[in-house]
Amino acid sequence: MEIIWRDSATYEHARFERVYNLLRPNRYPAAIVRAKSESDIVEAVRLAHSKGLRIAVRSGGHSFAVWSVRDHSILLDLGDYREVTVDAAKREARVSPSTQSNLDLQLMKDYGLMFGGGHCPDVSLGGYLLQGGIGWNCRNWGWGCEQVKAVDVVTADGRLVHCNTEENSDLFWAARGAGPGFPGIVTRFHLQLHPAPKVFRTSGYMFPKTHYREAFNWILGLTSTFDDGTEISASGMYPDGKDEVAFFVYMVTMKDTAEEAQAALLPAQQTRPPGAIEEWFCREDSLEQEYATQENAYPGGRRWLADNAFIRNDVDLAAVLEDAFLNLPDNNFTVLWYPLAPRSRRPLPDMACSLQSDHYFGVYAIYQDERDDERCLTWQKQTMEKVERFSVGTFTGETDFQHREAKYWGDEQGLRLAEIRRKWDPEGRICGYLDREDTSGVGGLSNRPGWQTQSAQL
Ligand SMILES: Cc1cc2nc3c(=O)[nH]c(=O)nc-3n(C[C@H](O)[C@H](O)[C@H](O)COP(=O)(O)OP(=O)(O)OC[C@H]3O[C@@H](n4cnc5c(N)ncnc54)[C@H](O)[C@@H]3O)c2cc1C
Repeated sequence: MEIIWRDSATYEHARFERVYNLLRPNRYPAAIVRAKSESDIVEAVRLAHSKGLRIAVRSGGHSFAVWSVRDHSILLDLGDYREVTVDAAKREARVSPSTQSNLDLQLMKDYGLMFGGGHCPDVSLGGYLLQGGIGWNCRNWGWGCEQVKAVDVVTADGRLVHCNTEENSDLFWAARGAGPGFPGIVTRFHLQLHPAPKVFRTSGYMFPKTHYREAFNWILGLTSTFDDGTEISASGMYPDGKDEVAFFVYMVTMKDTAEEAQAALLPAQQTRPPGAIEEWFCREDSLEQEYATQENAYPGGRRWLADNAFIRNDVDLAAVLEDAFLNLPDNNFTVLWYPLAPRSRRPLPDMACSLQSDHYFGVYAIYQDERDDERCLTWQKQTMEKVERFSVGTFTGETDFQHREAKYWGDEQGLRLAEIRRKWDPEGRICGYLDREDTSGVGGLSNRPGWQTQSAQL
């Protein structure tokens, strides 16, 4: 393994190597260790013990808040530790955490298999799966972590253990939803794969802001009964070259035949309200093309702020989100509604990932100029303040605990997670959740919305 100490000439490069977000923190690990194998990971844990340091992990570097870069730590970079083994007959794969979501392309091409990886090709499975993972065909296949059968873990005291529902089952429970407070280092995910769809088709409907309510209520009304092999989303955004916000409904269906794809998308085409500025129906598509579309919508080489909420099922959704969708300051901002029903209507397996609703709502500031940092953060905070009261909680995958406190797990699951963290990492050797001062340590997050805590204090 390679160790890069703070006085090394390559330290600064290694500190942010593969980090997606250009909005970067003033935090300085004592050293960066590039691991190439499981034994390197064990060695790195020993090194941290001997130096009295914490360990932070980087699998793909896509966490918006750059959780891998921490003070008083060794940054364990898993980018050079790569392993993918597929057992096509059993539809299983074993992958190292730095494996990117676009593993799906290889699985499709070589084996006709797929799993619910992240929508953007270069999000790595380490952070993605530990957080639950909202990926391909989520309405149907469920959370990414529901497709994890077992994990191999190096514990905070440097032991290598296998975890599934029989062995070390509490650690396996936590590996499906603990997110960036998992009390160990995952070295391998054992994945359950699905037969891959053969045909991808999309439909798109772009409405002017004047049609927001009508268009939103139309797509909302369709969603719960819509074909569950079809992904639906709606974004508030400024179309290229336009100076007015639009409401854009996008659908991707994944099927075995063109006829099935057309039948899946038809109910939307037949019932769409008039007035779209642009629309298409059942356009040919592929997974490669989808990745390109995602990369275009969520580009690299930018500063990023992201936050989200699962909005309650019983609210007037179009009304609750209207301000967020229609008052985007400029084209550096976008918001997303991503429906999760019918998955969200099915009970979850027993695992840490325990919050869901029919409506995932994400807010993103994607910009280039550091002089916009404060303006973008203020917009994000104000937007979330207006909607968080209507939510059941927040997904750990696209948020920053330094900016806003929320509920991330069910009450019972939050308590169980805290217990498991104390049991497996009583010293807080693995950097836990990064709160405002990075002081939450073994105690972890309060798992309570900030606005509720503030009201209670009044
Ligand atoms: C462009 C973009 C698109 C995205 N799209 C999606 C999407 O479609 N669906 C979705 O659910 N999320 C999505 N995300 C969010 C993404 O899943 C999270 O940011 C996730 O943390 C990224 O994982 P990573 O390994 O790349 O990040 P990293 O920054 O490397 O890891 C994040 C944290 O996870 C923990 N961690 C990672 N690996 C390990 C390990 N092996 N052992 C222990 N702890 C570990 C550590 O605390 C680490 O600091 C997207 C993010 C971006 C930037």
